[in-house]
Amino acid sequence: MPITPMEIYKLLPKTNCKKCGEQTCMAFAFKVVNRDKQIEECTPLFEEEKYTKQKEQLLEMLEPLKEASETGLIVDESKCTGCANCIVVCPVHAAEDAYGSGSGFGPKIDDPIYRLENGVLKIINVQRCRRYGKNRILCVACRENCPSDAISFLEG
Ligand code: SF4
Ligand code: SF4
Ligand code: SF4
Repeated sequence: MPITPMEIYKLLPKTNCKKCGEQTCMAFAFKVVNRDKQIEECTPLFEEEKYTKQKEQLLEMLEPLKEASETGLIVDESKCTGCANCIVVCPVHAAEDAYGSGSGFGPKIDDPIYRLENGVLKIINVQRCRRYGKNRILCVACRENCPSDAISFLEG
């Protein structure tokens, strides 16, 4: 399940002290989800004993962020059945080889985002995903077409 700013906000000190460089704790929570800020930048959370329990909950909640690619894309290989739906529906792949995607085989291009290796999905070129970079679009095509729920995103 994606982590939402509200879930993070609920566990922050909620004092709007601005020590993290943000105007509000909510603004900070948004930046943490987008990986523009580290939770450690909320210094009261780490320095004041009364927040110890909240800090531990937050660190546990944010653990998957470390594993995620820069797009927030996570593939659970243990769930993947190798059906290739995600490869076929990806709009980046379809734009470069419409015939391959349209015929259900996937694109015949050198640098796909995804590729099957030994029947399991691997992320090969995550920087080509539409969720990557400053002008990113929160595309969900691969996730929505995975019958095994093997693909998830940290946001959206
Ligand atoms: S440092 Fe922590 S408590 Fe202060 S505004 Fe930032 S998130 Fe809120
Ligand atoms: S999020 Fe969209 S662009 Fe990115 S890999 Fe999935 S289908 Fe392709
Ligand atoms: S759609 Fe899901 S099950 Fe099929 S290859 Fe992609 S990740 Fe694996």
